[in-house]
Amino acid sequence: MESQKKYPRQFSFEFFPPKTDQGKAKLSDAVDELKVLEPRYVSVTFGAGGSTQQGTIETVRDLMGRGLDAAPHLSCIGATRESIRELLQGYVDMGVKRIVALRGDMPSGMREPGDFQYANELVEFIREETGDRFHLEVAAYPEFHPQAQSADDDLANFKRKCEAGANAAITQYFYNIDAYLRFVEDCQKRGLELPIVPGIMPIINFKQLARFSDACGAEIPRWLRWRLGSMGEDKEAIRAYGHDVNTELCRRLLEAGAPGLHFYTMNQAGPTTAIWKALGLS
Ligand code: FAD
Repeated sequence: MESQKKYPRQFSFEFFPPKTDQGKAKLSDAVDELKVLEPRYVSVTFGAGGSTQQGTIETVRDLMGRGLDAAPHLSCIGATRESIRELLQGYVDMGVKRIVALRGDMPSGMREPGDFQYANELVEFIREETGDRFHLEVAAYPEFHPQAQSADDDLANFKRKCEAGANAAITQYFYNIDAYLRFVEDCQKRGLELPIVPGIMPIINFKQLARFSDACGAEIPRWLRWRLGSMGEDKEAIRAYGHDVNTELCRRLLEAGAPGLHFYTMNQAGPTTAIWKALGLS
């Protein structure tokens, strides 16, 4: 972890663009509560194949209007060079400073990948088009991306993506700290010099989390799956146990030298704020 200790800690919160008025009100309340924690930046997800593009832009504009450094996620699968160029110009005009650059997943029904196959091509394109205008974050997978041919391949692909011009990486969430520590060590051995910020997924709804984890290849360790599974529909018990597990994970990560934390807030302030307070970060 030596390579990570030199970076100043940065804390960030991730939101998704709400689809309904009720969702907008809920996000607005969450932002009010989380803003006082003074995150370095907040980010807004982008639906597969650009399905939430307008929602992402509007949410970023709203968050910037509230004085936050807001970073849109931008996925390139299914996109053309021209459509990405237009989007980038829009973000330049809005004064966006940071982008989370991703490949994304091909939505069902879409056949052609478009002009970009992998995130390294998007990073390269953004640098070609806009130079150093944006601070670029990319995705990292301590437990490896589910489509990778092997761990070594995934690390080589991650290295290619970083060397294309990424400034920092945010990891997929994980509950096994050794996966992150070893991933960082592997990156260090390969000469990678950038902050790799752990992504933290608060445990709110176990069934939803289990489904999502199976799809994205993030492991819920057996002991945790069994504990949470045995709590059935008792949401309070699940939240309380999840809070303890995540707080301990974050504490150990920061003690080990992680350069901050990126919280997948699910547009809810409560679970993230509780972890923040338990860590004594405020
Ligand atoms: P890549 O880095 O391109 O990697 C994808 C796969 O291809 C990996 O298996 C990799 O090993 C392999 N690969 C990479 N480059 C090459 C190459 N040159 N040759 C051969 N193989 C290669 N999804 C969304 O739809 N919207 C979001 O807003 C969103 N936000 C995210 C935020 C974070 C922090 C993370 C961790 C994930 C997010 N995702 C999001 C999910 C992400 O889009 C998926 O995990 C997607 O499958 C991979 O995207 P990537 O940018 O990591 O792809």
